[in-house]
Amino acid sequence: MDKPRSHGRLSVNLSRRPRSLMDGPPDLKNAWKAKVLTLFPEVFPGVLGSSLTGKALNQGLWALETKDLRAFGLGKHRQVDDTPAGGGAGLVMRADVLVPALKEARHGTPDDPALWPRLYLSPRGQPFTQAHAERYSKAQGITLLCGRFEGVDERVIAHHDLEEVSLGDFVLTGGEIAAQALIDATVRLIPRVLGNRASIEDESFSNGLLEHPHYTKPPVWQGRDIPDILLSGHHGDIARWRLAQAERLTKERRPDLWRAYCAKHGKDPDGDQEL
Ligand code: SAH
Repeated sequence: MDKPRSHGRLSVNLSRRPRSLMDGPPDLKNAWKAKVLTLFPEVFPGVLGSSLTGKALNQGLWALETKDLRAFGLGKHRQVDDTPAGGGAGLVMRADVLVPALKEARHGTPDDPALWPRLYLSPRGQPFTQAHAERYSKAQGITLLCGRFEGVDERVIAHHDLEEVSLGDFVLTGGEIAAQALIDATVRLIPRVLGNRASIEDESFSNGLLEHPHYTKPPVWQGRDIPDILLSGHHGDIARWRLAQAERLTKERRPDLWRAYCAKHGKDPDGDQEL
């Protein structure tokens, strides 16, 4: 049906060239891939085309393919939506439009959702967290369905057993911004995309805590100092200070994360921190 659009120089499209000529760098052939089903393919790669994610896309460390849902629309006007059963405001994306698009996106991908998660971005979904990003980054790729209008016919979700994922407790106009945020959080965990693995291990959420504060030059700026300990050169003290700050911030700002962290580390969440 429609021709998928690939993004990134090295994300090779279907080609009649002999196989041997297509053997690029090993990570290209099996690069992690996001397939995005959307009515607005032109907004991709969007922000993902810039900076580190864009560079990694061009290097073939990951690949992006968009599928234009309009191409699956019905009739002369390529209609994709219709009035809600039972009445009410708005329009609903039709199952007989979305299911063929999802079916086409399944070609060449493993059925097992652990190897290839299939997601519908939806405010009703499970809140997206770093743990989701880690899980998706370990799969071979993901398929993302971006809704518009009031959302999609419920039968689409059931038919393809889509995992519903939400970016947060707010309502966007469409799934595209959510898809780009989810892909960004996921591809930065793919080896070599960020270049510096150590910075990931320390980050907010990866150890159950929010990250400690950062400072850089100059040492005094508008009367504000950098904490002495950071300029002391004592790596052990600095690490302890950073952990204490991360714990303090988490306790103050995110009691939910703090309780989970304390349970995991056998700490009393109401106990006094040595901060
Ligand atoms: N009527 C729906 C909202 C539809 S918004 C409701 O009340 O639940 C249109 C589309 O935007 C959705 O189909 C979904 O794909 C996307 N979207 C909106 N908010 C989102 C969020 N918080 N997370 C992920 N996707 C969202």
